[in-house]
Amino acid sequence: MTCPCGNTIEFENCCQKIHTDPSCAQSAEMLMRARYSAFVKHEIDFIYNTFHPSTRHFQDKKDIQQWAISSKWMNLEILKSTDTIVEFKAHYLDQYLETQIHHERSTFKKDQGIWYYVDGIILP
Ligand SMILES: [Zn+2]
Repeated sequence: MTCPCGNTIEFENCCQKIHTDPSCAQSAEMLMRARYSAFVKHEIDFIYNTFHPSTRHFQDKKDIQQWAISSKWMNLEILKSTDTIVEFKAHYLDQYLETQIHHERSTFKKDQGIWYYVDGIILP
């Protein structure tokens, strides 16, 4: 069994640790992976709480939940990652079982030892 984020270690030893304690994410990429796994596992509070406080108020938990539960998450592909930027493709099936690819370049910020997702640019 591997973690939904694509790492070849168990969920319990990978993203679940970060879901329990976000300060366990030691890099922007680790937080990104944990956020993807949170979509798979429907950890809506985790997704919401790891938005940076500067952008969190634009978010709606119901919208996040709707997207998370109406999609079948297939896999995560990390294309590029630097200290604060992660470019990824999340492959999923939408509610009509059509293949979708969410391609995004996301920006992350570390505040008081905890990584947060700030915002992202959707790429074609
Ligand atoms: Zn993981």
